[in-house]
Amino acid sequence: MSSPFPWQEAQWQNLMSRIAQGNLPHALLLTGRRGTGKQHFAQQLAERLLCSSEQVETVELKPCGECKGCRLMAAKTHPDLKNVFPPEDKQIISVDQIRELTHHLSLTALCGGYQVVLISPADGMNVNAANSLLKTLEEPPANTMLLLISDRPSTLPATIRSRCQVVNFERPAHHSALAWLLQQQPELDPQSANTLLELADGAPLRAAEMASQGTINQRAEMLDDLEKITTGRCNPVEIAKKWLKLGKKESLYWVYGWLVDMVRMKVAEQPPYISNADVAPRLSKMAANIELSLLYKRLDQVNEALRLADNPSLNPELLLEGVLIGWTSRR
Ligand SMILES: [Zn+2]
Repeated sequence: MSSPFPWQEAQWQNLMSRIAQGNLPHALLLTGRRGTGKQHFAQQLAERLLCSSEQVETVELKPCGECKGCRLMAAKTHPDLKNVFPPEDKQIISVDQIRELTHHLSLTALCGGYQVVLISPADGMNVNAANSLLKTLEEPPANTMLLLISDRPSTLPATIRSRCQVVNFERPAHHSALAWLLQQQPELDPQSANTLLELADGAPLRAAEMASQGTINQRAEMLDDLEKITTGRCNPVEIAKKWLKLGKKESLYWVYGWLVDMVRMKVAEQPPYISNADVAPRLSKMAANIELSLLYKRLDQVNEALRLADNPSLNPELLLEGVLIGWTSRR
């Protein structure tokens, strides 16, 4: 693949014309919701910048695919592309990683062109790491391009944000996202594709990921489980075991989404918006048997469980059990 996604065309053309004018900034902050393809865009831009074909500067805007730079990129071994991300067992990018990066950038590009850096997620840098990156952002070595990627740019220090040019990726237009999703997942019917986009908050890559994980069926089964617990036909402890295998946070997010919709149904006869429109009748039936105050109580429980979900010292099965056992009572 050597082009950005269809909904990224405007951002891409803007940067391409800046390359043509020789007026590319040295640091970009790519922002927008998860699943809009920021990482892919950054990778495409890196490929474009590391293509060493003469042609590319003048006529052809796509990487040539044949030069040394393009071949090294295809082999994922380009020495002038540096990826910085949290180590697998951690969630933060440390100051040591940024120091190593700074050292790497102080050396001349091995292929004689650009040095490109991808930092993802940029909000994963801790305070020391962010401070350590500041100097590089202020005085970048020549021919350096720093690409910072973040779903949550507001959590980045203002000093970092102000030194980058922001390229924002909005939620794509629904028809464009839907067309792309159906093309990627030809076995999906349009209604399921719509539901997935709704569940993914309009982010096409997230929707595609959900489709390949069989999310629609899994979610339907979980709603069955919840109905069974409510009517006493299922043991919440067994269900907690089963849900844990599906993902503790995912499970909690589903329950959260259903509860929010049930509250909407309770407070308005015709709620203007429902996230889980495809299962609205089932949710409405459940909501009819639960007091509004109890729905709020359950929402609090799920919120608390989500807050605790990352705490490694808590037993995740007990966490899910706690939430599900709540559904067996009417108080
Ligand atoms: Zn090339």
